[in-house]
Amino acid sequence: MLSFFLQKFAGRHHRKYVEKCRPVVARINEFEQQYQALTDEQLRAKTDEFRARLQKGETLDQILPEAFAAVKNAARRMVGRKVIVCDHELTWDMVHFDVQLIGGITLHEGRIAEMATGEGKTLVATLPLYLNALTGRNAQLVTVNDYLARRDSEWMGHLYNFLGITVGCIQQSMHSEVRREMYNRGITYGTASEFGFDYLRDNGMATRKEDQVQRDHFYCIVDEIDSILVDEARTPLIISGPAPIEREQPFQRLKPGVEQLVAAQLRLINRLVKEASDLLEKKDATPEDRSAAAMKMLQVKLGMPKNKQLLRLQENPEWRKLLDKTDVEMHSDFNKDELYKYKEELFFVIDEKNHQADLTEPGRTKLRPDDPDAFVLPDLASRFIDIEKDATLSPEQKEALKREAQQRYEVVSEDIHALSQLLRAYALYERDVEYVVQDGKVVIVDENTGRIMSGRRWSDGLHQAVEAKENVTIERETRTYATVTIQNYFRMYEKLAGMTGTAETEATEFNEIYRLAVTQIPTNKPCIRIDRNDSIFKTRRDKYGAVVKQIQEAQGRGQPVLVGTVTVEQSEVLSRMLKRAGVIHTVLNAKFHQQEAEIVTRAGQRGSVTIATNMAGRGTDIKLGEGVRELGGLLVVGTERHESRRIDRQLRGRCSRQGDPGATKFFLSLEDDLMRLFLQGNLASKIMEGAMQEGEELEHPWLNRSIESAQKKVEQQNFAIRKRLLQYDDVLNKQREVIYGIRNGALHNERPKDIIFEMIGEEVAARLESAGYGEKTEVTAASLESLVGWLNSHFPVSAKVEEIPLRGDFDAILQDLVGRIKKAYALKESVEDPAALGGLERYIVINAIDHHWQEHLTEMEELRRSIGLRSYGQKDPLNEYKSEAFRFFEELMNNVRLQICTSLFRSATNRDAFENLFTISRSARLQGPAAAPTALAAATQASAPAAAPAAAPAEEIKLPAVTIRRETPKVGRNDPCPCGSGKKYKNCHGAA
Ligand code: ADP
Ligand code: MG
Repeated sequence: MLSFFLQKFAGRHHRKYVEKCRPVVARINEFEQQYQALTDEQLRAKTDEFRARLQKGETLDQILPEAFAAVKNAARRMVGRKVIVCDHELTWDMVHFDVQLIGGITLHEGRIAEMATGEGKTLVATLPLYLNALTGRNAQLVTVNDYLARRDSEWMGHLYNFLGITVGCIQQSMHSEVRREMYNRGITYGTASEFGFDYLRDNGMATRKEDQVQRDHFYCIVDEIDSILVDEARTPLIISGPAPIEREQPFQRLKPGVEQLVAAQLRLINRLVKEASDLLEKKDATPEDRSAAAMKMLQVKLGMPKNKQLLRLQENPEWRKLLDKTDVEMHSDFNKDELYKYKEELFFVIDEKNHQADLTEPGRTKLRPDDPDAFVLPDLASRFIDIEKDATLSPEQKEALKREAQQRYEVVSEDIHALSQLLRAYALYERDVEYVVQDGKVVIVDENTGRIMSGRRWSDGLHQAVEAKENVTIERETRTYATVTIQNYFRMYEKLAGMTGTAETEATEFNEIYRLAVTQIPTNKPCIRIDRNDSIFKTRRDKYGAVVKQIQEAQGRGQPVLVGTVTVEQSEVLSRMLKRAGVIHTVLNAKFHQQEAEIVTRAGQRGSVTIATNMAGRGTDIKLGEGVRELGGLLVVGTERHESRRIDRQLRGRCSRQGDPGATKFFLSLEDDLMRLFLQGNLASKIMEGAMQEGEELEHPWLNRSIESAQKKVEQQNFAIRKRLLQYDDVLNKQREVIYGIRNGALHNERPKDIIFEMIGEEVAARLESAGYGEKTEVTAASLESLVGWLNSHFPVSAKVEEIPLRGDFDAILQDLVGRIKKAYALKESVEDPAALGGLERYIVINAIDHHWQEHLTEMEELRRSIGLRSYGQKDPLNEYKSEAFRFFEELMNNVRLQICTSLFRSATNRDAFENLFTISRSARLQGPAAAPTALAAATQASAPAAAPAAAPAEEIKLPAVTIRRETPKVGRNDPCPCGSGKKYKNCHGAA
């Protein structure tokens, strides 16, 4: 009863909107009357007139009636003309109906126009597209496939061209120059994924603004909006590719050593486990025996957590308890030293929970008897300071030494990481349990389902380690370069509109997620379609039997039938049955759009039988053949109710277009997925299930309604899931906006050095803070020294500890330091090729962003997966995700900043410029700043404070390497902690 009222109410609300449009429609038609007196030229001149009036400040709403009238009048003038659409000739026969004008107003207002199939939405879209294109900005229309984009742009293109508006379409195969040219036209047709990918390429990959193809995101109409925003939106668009090779992976090199180490550990463990079991099984075991046994068991657990003997011992509940108790006790702070002692009796220690494996002292010695420090991270910071302090070294020697130290650090840190992954691969990952080897590839086995997960890879080098272990080719990691969901792509438009035959059932979703209101537009002619009651059978077999019978009957009369199926498999099952019954038919699976569209146009011919999945031939009009009207029009047969009512409505809408006759009927069985769901917990239906006989048919209006309410429940669930997904996605979306914003800033700026200095300022500020320059903190000599060390190793500023006050105004100190860097940069600028410098600066920013952003995307994917696993805890996984994601993003921004700092003075436009700088700086040192007017002097004077003492020490310009690379090694969360603990950074000093 309530829903009945709601429907009435909803209907009234649509009617109200339509009534509100009536006067506008009347005005459009008045203008159109007047325009009939114009010549073609005069009508065409309207386009320029409207453009000019918009320029002068009139609004789109104000000129809407005239603009729509111009389009309608152009359509009228074209009637009878032959036009070519997708290589076929057809005759233009359309002039906008009043309801189509209302549809056009709806679309212009940024709503969803629900207009039944066959109402001519393609033509409706011409009105608002023309109007919005008058602004000079790109008006767009999204269709469901490439074929329709081409068809509609060519078809409607004749109308736009008549009015002097250019139109184009984007096709998958197009190169970027063509794409750009298409986006530059007044109106552009295309598919959601092409538009989305172009956006990603423009913003995430283009390195020059000339490579970008899209203009801004102004106005877009999405055709079949439900299928694009509801059905397809679940899969995001992703551009991915192989991860760049940064260095040679040390797996192969380390493998022999690890194998020996694992063998040695195995021997040790076997001995320990034997001793433990002997002690435990001793008849007169003393408490001392038991605790000795417990420690041995614990050692086994630390060394080889999956040891079979140990697992067997643990089957004895008493012994198991003993081990657990010892484990907990030994891990308390109190017993730290003792535990360390026990650990050091092993070669390596495995922490299963934290996915870590650490070498012990004996392990390190065994692996590299000649150099036990081979796997200890050097203390880079103090090494740098030592080098810096050494007065016997020339600046060049210092540089060389630093570079050497840094390279060694990188090698060692890579090695530690690879080693840890190899140890895990050998000790924890068993072939045919955790993974299988198939066709020379390591394939993960899902631990819960036992299913083989082809294509998935363990991250962080583990997969490569297992590949090394199994002697198969070590593959490169792939990396996500850019990703966006369809939803978020469309939310970027200033004005979004949509049209479809079926939006009403999803109105809440459109409203909540996209702020799009749905308006039902009445049909041009009353719809006379007959929707018969569903027929329900006990088994699927019975159902298909009845469907075949129905088809045969109709075909006997010559009535065309369109059969809708939910899946491709079902289409095939039915097709086989029809073949056996000798019924000629065609099957469409939404694979070959153009070809299938041509078949679907013929689905209304006498005697034809067409089987199609939901998407097949969508967007193509089914016209009735000769004499079919008298036979009752097209018969649409559904073979299963879909989860969503919308898809069922879509299928029904395939018939009875434009006042044609037609009928629809669904055949269901109690074995259908939806029916099984519907039967759950529904007493009446259980009784029904028990009472129903095979072959029996059931039919009642009451049943249709109950099934609909089951559908509604599923719809709500699915909506909740989509909404949840979107909430996750929002997090990354905001981050993408920030990153792409900076990236585009760099791309479109002639000289993006402001961005660079903003970043440097932030970095220096952060470093000042961590050095202790804050309200409540103290600066120590050591922290100041390391700050100065950092400054000097990144910028040629020759900062001295004495020059920087231990306390003082934070901003003043910051200004001073950044000022020095700017001054040094001005010096660099003076010797670089100014035209090339902008490009170099752009490269610095973009390179830093891309590198870290792509890494970030991969980490976010991992986070998303791992959060999914954590969701059984009490915490809300979304909140967990948000806060983790925030930390990741902060880290990302830090890394980007740091890389920019590192790159700025290590990049030169060319070798000459570099050499140039080198000579000048040397001569500068000799002559001092007050000497001859060299480029250097000019540069320094320009930025030096007026009161600079004349006898200031010569500017000493230290020139680091030309190549762009990291200086202080950046510590990734999964890298070993630089403190040398051998733990991952995120679990050690990097832990929040
Ligand atoms: P929809 O997308 O709404 O399902 P289409 O745009 O594919 O409908 O149009 C369906 C059919 O209606 C097409 O054959 C088209 O030529 C015809 N049509 C649309 N508008 C008109 C009109 N104003 N006058 C005559 N025929 C029209
Ligand atoms: Mg259409």
